[in-house]
Amino acid sequence: MATKFEEAIKRNQTNIFVCKDCKAKVRAPSLKVSQGKIKCRSCKSLKLRPKRKK
Ligand SMILES: [Zn+2]
Repeated sequence: MATKFEEAIKRNQTNIFVCKDCKAKVRAPSLKVSQGKIKCRSCKSLKLRPKRKK
């Protein structure tokens, strides 16, 4: 029971970024995002932040 929950949290937090310009969600490995290789799909912005803020 706890395992499934933890998996869900991991899945939700690890790979999802939000575009700072248009708020679109982008799923990508954080490594690539930090390397600047990932762009927002809709506005081509490089400004992404992790979905989880704190
Ligand atoms: Zn965007």
